[in-house]
Amino acid sequence: MTARRFQGGRLVIASHNAGKVREIGELLAPFGTEVVSAGALGLPEPEETGDTFVANAELKARAAAAASGLPSLADDSGLAVNALAGAPGIYSARWAGQAKDFAFAMAKVQSALGEEKDRSARFVCALALAWPDGHCETFEGVVEGDIVWPPKGENGFGYDPIFLPKDGILTFGEMDAAAKHAISHRADAFTKLVAACFGVGN
Ligand code: IMP
Repeated sequence: MTARRFQGGRLVIASHNAGKVREIGELLAPFGTEVVSAGALGLPEPEETGDTFVANAELKARAAAAASGLPSLADDSGLAVNALAGAPGIYSARWAGQAKDFAFAMAKVQSALGEEKDRSARFVCALALAWPDGHCETFEGVVEGDIVWPPKGENGFGYDPIFLPKDGILTFGEMDAAAKHAISHRADAFTKLVAACFGVGN
């Protein structure tokens, strides 16, 4: 089925994170998309009650579209470790606690894995684009890899220093931004979104 296309005009980024809003705005700038953040419009932040990345992205996008009357884009992402049944998954941010202590969150992953041989994991990024009439398109991007210990590298954020992408020699924490963005779960999801909803000629 063909995805609904974004017809131009203003797009709400359903996030109160200024960094995320700026990055998404930059990614969509070539399409002449003017972005405005949910924070700037004073929209409330819905509770993330979904049990998948897609469900959480969708509920954030739908809430922003309904409250603003404008098409709205939301993302939800995290780290899923196979031997931990997909944890921390949708709780990736919460594993770092109120202090957003990712050294602590990474140590928690390592301690949960213990002597486990299967250290495979993936980063997942879900994107949802919702319209005020209730229509919603969703996309999911992934990058596969392994959990390494100890953490390596000072770049990136979150769990980047313990994530070694498949067939790679540097962790996401050691890679520069361009190298990470070339293969990341976020880039994968954005490629799918842009091809379906912003692409030329479809
Ligand atoms: P969200 O902002 O609620 O989607 O939370 C995403 C959380 O997942 C972040 O706080 C990070 O902990 C983790 N995460 C998502 N993407 C990445 C990434 O590219 N590198 C490292 N951690 C990530």
